[in-house]
Amino acid sequence: MSQDVFSDAIARLDAAAKYSKAHAETVLRLRAPKQFVEVNFPVRMDDGTLKIFTGYRCRYDDTRGPAKGGIRFHQDVSPSEVRALAFWMTFKCATVGIPFGGGKGGVIVDPTKLSMIELERLSRAYMRAIAHLVGVDVDVPAPDVNTNPLVMAWMMDEYSQVVGRREPGVITGKPIALGGSQGRGDATARGGKFCLAQLQTKLGWDPKSQRKTCVVQGFGNAGEHFALFAHEMGYKVIGISDSFGGIHNPDGIDVVKAAASKTPKRHVIATKGDKEITNEQLLELECDLLVPAAIENVITEANASKIKAKVILELANGPITPVADATLHKNGIIVVPDILANAGGVTVSYFEWTQNKAGFYWSAQEVQQKLEPIMSREFNSVFDIAKQHNIDMRTAAYTHALNRLAEAHEGLGTEKTFGKV
Ligand code: NAD
Repeated sequence: MSQDVFSDAIARLDAAAKYSKAHAETVLRLRAPKQFVEVNFPVRMDDGTLKIFTGYRCRYDDTRGPAKGGIRFHQDVSPSEVRALAFWMTFKCATVGIPFGGGKGGVIVDPTKLSMIELERLSRAYMRAIAHLVGVDVDVPAPDVNTNPLVMAWMMDEYSQVVGRREPGVITGKPIALGGSQGRGDATARGGKFCLAQLQTKLGWDPKSQRKTCVVQGFGNAGEHFALFAHEMGYKVIGISDSFGGIHNPDGIDVVKAAASKTPKRHVIATKGDKEITNEQLLELECDLLVPAAIENVITEANASKIKAKVILELANGPITPVADATLHKNGIIVVPDILANAGGVTVSYFEWTQNKAGFYWSAQEVQQKLEPIMSREFNSVFDIAKQHNIDMRTAAYTHALNRLAEAHEGLGTEKTFGKV
């Protein structure tokens, strides 16, 4: 991510403010995080030496509910990135109307260089360092890049030891046996599928009879589940990829077989009839639906004008740069933005937190049944705002979120309530 990633985030706020009913005071409050803390904490390494690691936790805004947002372990974690990701989470939760604010955390570390036991010590030490900043009704972390259910389990256990009681709701994305939710695994892709189903109705698409084609970049948690859903919906999936490269088959890739032949390292393996291509070529394939589901900043100024898809559904966070966004909009490409398209993940995290608070657990079917109306309703609200103002769906999603944030902030009063001095 670029160093000015937080300035990019604030530019989204300014764009949405033009169309939102938000009072200028709400916009002012949202220009900076409520709390941003740096922690430096020691970890004993396997060879006996002591290392000091730097981490951050940001509670961007908690007016609509406890902050919610993942913890990233990566060597490039920076204060600007953590603030920007916490800002995105604030707007993502508001877009889908779940009662959470936005937060994010991270540690500067390359976890591939750690042994398993060093990773456990680091995870527990970071949680001890931020334990006074998080809490079930304060700030609820989750997994992000390089953190997973096992890391969440260690952190939940550490927090429970600090506060002296079992507290599963302090963190989401846990293993099911430790209070995780059914249906979290495919929730992000499923939320994207529910958005797509609504968009198809608006556009008059019938993927099967009209032989609509789909390309998915990234075949991990989000991308693999989505490719399987797209196949079920009747799309011909003609391109998939992982970090090593992609495959293209104009007759359609057997995604069920591709998913079954995935290994921990290589997610995409070419079989008969598939042509190997680069990730750059994959993004520029002629198709109806393009789904970036890997990393950020893959559609930029350099390739935006070469994108031939009619619709882009952003399952990855931040795959399109602001400059590229403008080009795509000018070229009539509909972009369903990340804060809406991939919000199925955080919505099921909200369900996990709700179940932990209630101590009453739902079936996978109940989770799916509760997710569908949220995603469909919020997709339609965003689509209507875009239509009403003739703006792109990203600006519309930020406008929708800002309207909700405004209701909460302004519920506490503005200068209109108190009168100008
Ligand atoms: P993952 O690690 O399970 O999978 C990532 C996939 O992308 C892998 O197939 C990997 O090989 C591929 N990849 C990595 N670098 C690449 C590159 N340079 N070019 C092409 N492919 C590359 O991750 P995930 O959980 O599926 O997350 C993918 C994206 O979706 C991320 O942006 C993440 O923030 C976003 N997201 C995920 C969730 C979720 O619930 N998993 C929720 C919201 C957003």
